[in-house]
Amino acid sequence: QPNPEWTRSDLYHNSFLIAPDDALEHARKNSNDQGLPEIAVSAAQGKLLNLYARSIGAKRILEVGTLGGYSTIWLSRALPDGGELVTFEISEKHAKVAQENIDYAGLTSKVKIVVGPAAESLKKVPSEPKWDLIFIDADKPSNLAYLLEGERLVRKGGVIIVDNVVRQGRVADPEANEEDIVGVRKLLEHLKTDEDVDATTIATVGEKGYDGFLYGIRL
Ligand code: SAM
Repeated sequence: QPNPEWTRSDLYHNSFLIAPDDALEHARKNSNDQGLPEIAVSAAQGKLLNLYARSIGAKRILEVGTLGGYSTIWLSRALPDGGELVTFEISEKHAKVAQENIDYAGLTSKVKIVVGPAAESLKKVPSEPKWDLIFIDADKPSNLAYLLEGERLVRKGGVIIVDNVVRQGRVADPEANEEDIVGVRKLLEHLKTDEDVDATTIATVGEKGYDGFLYGIRL
């Protein structure tokens, strides 16, 4: 869990770099009020996703794991007019809250939520036209399946980002064998010899604790 100094550090930096934002605050509050788990990305991580998308001029984005749409709002705000984001969520309740939050943020026309198991839904996405970026943040045992779908769907030079790949350093702890951790290890083992993606893990510390993003480029 995050310690107070890490939270203070994020809040300090955010106070210069991330303006207070009604739609994002509404998304967090409405999600909490309706009992969704508090497992969305942090504000700093959300902004990083937004900057990544803008830095490659993303027009078409996929997201696996919507929750209340907090990261969805950050990512879809990076899209130009006519851009689109499709986000996959297994829970009807989460999808309903996310739709409310996306509507409140004025992003209804850019975002489509697909309800159901993401592995099944992704299989139905045509291979063409390609997507610019995929953000993977759902059930961790399926990380490798999502990565492989991402490789099929993301254009050359496009970006693949996976959340929660460090997990308090426990992914590297030989004593740790929970299914979420095993799911990350399978992803890493695959990437070791994968000639279609070049990636790195960046560990992060802040209000979400000690974890990390895997950032990859589709070759
Ligand atoms: N990306 C969100 C954010 O930062 O605001 C957080 C997503 S949360 C960590 C993970 C979400 O994945 C949950 O809402 C959960 O219901 C969903 N999920 C879990 N298993 C899934 C599956 N098999 N297919 C689709 N979504 C799934």
